[in-house]
Amino acid sequence: MSNNKYKILVIEDDRKILSMIQTVLDTNGYQVLTAQRCQQGILMLSSHVPDLVVLDLGLPDMDGEEFIRITRRSSMIPIIVLSARTEESDKVRALDLGANDYITKPFGTGELLARIRASLRINRMNLQAAMPDNVFTLEDLVIDYDRRQVSVGGNNVHVTQIEFNILALLSQQVGKIMTYSAIIRAIWGAMDEGSIKKLQVNMANIRKKLGCKPGESRYIINELGVGYRMTDARE
Ligand code: CA
Repeated sequence: MSNNKYKILVIEDDRKILSMIQTVLDTNGYQVLTAQRCQQGILMLSSHVPDLVVLDLGLPDMDGEEFIRITRRSSMIPIIVLSARTEESDKVRALDLGANDYITKPFGTGELLARIRASLRINRMNLQAAMPDNVFTLEDLVIDYDRRQVSVGGNNVHVTQIEFNILALLSQQVGKIMTYSAIIRAIWGAMDEGSIKKLQVNMANIRKKLGCKPGESRYIINELGVGYRMTDARE
């Protein structure tokens, strides 16, 4: 397995967890930098220019959220949040501040590695700004951005303008979880009382039109209470 020495900065004050992550990443061919305090992490970010950050939210000197806020002023580096907090609102806040993904403690090494691979890949795709023919493909789902057409297995799927916009938005961020409010702001411009319900109704219709059965996580995963993620088939 070649990760070609991606440089990963891990900011975590719990020594046990930090050394576990360090071992896992090291074994899997990543170059690992560590910091146990937020301030130290901020300094290392600018001096070592890592490819990705794994960030604990509960740090002794500053809240990890502060790290995200400061970093996002100048950098789009992928940030994966580690959180012992099971509260959905913390995850949503971290994502809305600009974190790319989150993992809830305790987590398995397989999950950690999969999340890191996915975030690095998305970042690479965004950097390349690829899709020269303006067509997105995921298994048998095809989204043609220019023609504003969607098909599954070669058959045209009739979607409304709003449904198309939602699909286009999620597909352009494939693999990344998008919070309800991020989707709503992008599609309708602003949140109001009925927004989440409206989004859920649209999403249910989209899934039905794409031929997904209830509860099935084909193409789009519903991260309950947080948002939606278009699956990355290669995950
Ligand atoms: Ca901590």
